[in-house]
Amino acid sequence: MLPVEVLEQAATEMTDWHSSGMSVMEMSHRGKEFVSIAEKAEADLREIMAVPLNYKVLFLQGGASSQFAMAPMNLLKGKNSADYINTGQWSKKAIAEAKRYCNVNIAATGEPGNFTSIPPGSEWKLNSGAAYVHYTPNETIGGVEFHFIPETGEVPLIADMSSTILSRPVDVSKFGLIYAGAQKNIGPAGLTIVIIRDDLIGEPIPGTPVMFNYKTHADNGSMYNTPPTYAWYIAGLVFDWIKRRGGLEAMAAVNNRKAGTLYDFIDKSDFYKNPVAPECRSWMNVPFTLLNPELDGKFLEESKKAGLVALKGHRSVGGMRASIYNAMPETGVDALIAFMQEFRKKNVKL
Ligand SMILES: *Cc1c(COP(=O)(O)O)cnc(C)c1O
Repeated sequence: MLPVEVLEQAATEMTDWHSSGMSVMEMSHRGKEFVSIAEKAEADLREIMAVPLNYKVLFLQGGASSQFAMAPMNLLKGKNSADYINTGQWSKKAIAEAKRYCNVNIAATGEPGNFTSIPPGSEWKLNSGAAYVHYTPNETIGGVEFHFIPETGEVPLIADMSSTILSRPVDVSKFGLIYAGAQKNIGPAGLTIVIIRDDLIGEPIPGTPVMFNYKTHADNGSMYNTPPTYAWYIAGLVFDWIKRRGGLEAMAAVNNRKAGTLYDFIDKSDFYKNPVAPECRSWMNVPFTLLNPELDGKFLEESKKAGLVALKGHRSVGGMRASIYNAMPETGVDALIAFMQEFRKKNVKL
């Protein structure tokens, strides 16, 4: 979801942005109008995430999937191995891509438990010679989230924050690199946010394309080539919306309540189930199954009729998944629970 206030503002400004006579989509990315939009968006993101001054914020294309390659290409820095924590499907994709560039040491994996928990820090086998440690703070498909930041000492920490960025405050100074596809919790698809510590920029592996070198984008204010201007603009409206709502502390309070209410309902139910260990359940993506999977199709059909859409679980795991990103209001979660209660009543075999 995007906040409805943001969509309405975009609609109002669609054909004529601030009496410029142009839609944002029609502006030159180097014109003063778009530059003002771009600068405000960056300033607002820096403010809400409290990004330290020695970090660059980049507005790129290519999605988080491009970052799976860009991270090793830029951060190996002459080393030949990197540590990865494997907590599910997105970790696996990042690992598969990194293996093209270096030796990947799987320092910890949730695979034996079918990715329903995060291996405790005491069991991690981190390699002090690794170029970096990569992890996925929120596994969007499995609904497994880290509620702590791993301690990696001097080794830079990289996080694929695609589905958890802006859901709560985070200490950016603990990371070397944070990246996120915008389409989960920021704005429209087509924009990728990168937050990178200054000293890690430059000296990518030989043969790195210009567009895959962080330095290219850092030196050019993310305008080496045409950036995804409209997505950048909408992201800016979302940052402003978050500021007006009280920032990430306020987001966290609402998100914690939304997730807590839904998990509580599922746990007390004799009809629905969530497989994830309670201490690592996602605030953003809540997968659940029906004890009788034969009812899955009926559940999806009837929930859709009730106005509750996009509840189908990822094709790889089946079942249901409620994604309750920042823009989902608490009333949305209440409506889902009311529907789930009603559906149980009609379908439970007593
Ligand atoms: C959606 C998602 C991705 C893939 O993002 P793209 O922008 O489609 O490449 C990667 N990692 C996580 C955690 C995601 O949720």
